[in-house]
Amino acid sequence: MPLFDFRCPVCGAQVEKFIRKETEVICTACDISMIKMMPLLAKTSTLWNGGWNSGLDGQGIYSMALGRKVHSKREEEKILNAKGFISEKELGSHWWDDQAAKQQAKIAEQDRLTQTYNDKVTEYGGDKIRAMTETFTTEACLDGSLHDTFDEKISI
Ligand SMILES: [Zn+2]
Repeated sequence: MPLFDFRCPVCGAQVEKFIRKETEVICTACDISMIKMMPLLAKTSTLWNGGWNSGLDGQGIYSMALGRKVHSKREEEKILNAKGFISEKELGSHWWDDQAAKQQAKIAEQDRLTQTYNDKVTEYGGDKIRAMTETFTTEACLDGSLHDTFDEKISI
């Protein structure tokens, strides 16, 4: 079973987990889905069977991450990318900062809307329907995203 590397886009926490299939890993601190990184074993050529260089014998090399032989490390990375894994070196140093900024902006916007909604409920003497239609877009009310996002903050 391959060892996977997950990283939280908000706090940057990293965990290593042995998993069999597509598994979501949630950051215990931030309660959001962590980003699935390249399997650790794929990053380190010395951990490959016989080492990366000695594996170049025309037969391909065994990928611990994929559990089968591949022609090259480049091919392994391509397959892993197609499976939804992210190679950290491809992201650049700004990527994590951008992710964190996006998450924080989203949380700030949620807090702002929650405040607006609560203020309107008070203003309209408890008329939640009126407060809701004036605070949120029709799309947000209808597509379920409102419920998912604000369920814990707003009692409807
Ligand atoms: Zn986190």
